[in-house]
Amino acid sequence: MLSGKTALVTGSTSGIGLGMARALAEHGANIVFNGFGDARQIEKLYTDVGKEFGVQTAYHNADMSKPAEIEAMMQFATDKFGGVDILVNNAGIQFVANVEDFPVDRWDAVIAINLTSAFHTTRLALPGMKKRNWGRIINLASAHGLVGSAGKSAYVAAKHGLVGLTKVTALENAHSGITCNAICPGWVLTPLVQKQIDDRAGREGISADQARKELLAEKQPSGEFVTPEQLGALAVFLCSPAADQVRGAAWNVDGGWTAQ
Ligand code: NAD
Repeated sequence: MLSGKTALVTGSTSGIGLGMARALAEHGANIVFNGFGDARQIEKLYTDVGKEFGVQTAYHNADMSKPAEIEAMMQFATDKFGGVDILVNNAGIQFVANVEDFPVDRWDAVIAINLTSAFHTTRLALPGMKKRNWGRIINLASAHGLVGSAGKSAYVAAKHGLVGLTKVTALENAHSGITCNAICPGWVLTPLVQKQIDDRAGREGISADQARKELLAEKQPSGEFVTPEQLGALAVFLCSPAADQVRGAAWNVDGGWTAQ
């Protein structure tokens, strides 16, 4: 379904981004990977995905907090594959502290990586999408793009902002073949969440297993984690013709978190 298309997935060396990249590759899209990690492992990762699904893959190491590096990555995707048809804004970080204790540099980093980077990739991808009159922009927001939680001011502000950016991008391109939607997951067991589980276990003097159960019980009525594969399948659907009129949605996949 997506052969001949190119998808750029930010933060795709791990977790949800990797799940998105794999799902899009499985349906034939060439993939530009991005994210941090060990250079050799990253090379193996994108080479293996290319071989497994018979698509072309490449990697750019842009730091998503740095606009000049984002511009270089978008230019790289154009030079390599002729442009970006599917943009998945996924890179993200978390930091937990109450507002009055929140380190200013952590606030700036969370906003830059989780929100402002999506503005830069989107503004740079849109001209090519407009030329081809086709594009899919998928923003990885969060249940925290819809509701708040104590201690997560920067993350919640960034994710609410990302849902806002999604709506405006969808509206500005409503008369075209370009759609923009947000996916709002609840808890997904990735390194980003494992850190919060480990912090909770340490703080409360409980096992990691108990901390994992408590984390789910607090917010996610299903009591089960969402998986990167489930989110990848939703991204594939959003790229299909069946989703041509899904525009500006903030689609929760959260085990019931935001239904409460
Ligand atoms: P993760 O930590 O497993 O992956 C994050 C990815 O972003 C990695 O590839 C990392 O290298 C990359 N990254 C981090 N900082 C970067 C930077 N400055 N420049 C480029 N890449 C950078 O996390 P995840 O859980 O897979 O999260 C992916 C997205 O999903 C994030 O936007 C996160 O907020 C969102 N999300 C996660 C959950 C969850 O429960 N895990 C829930 C809702 C939303």
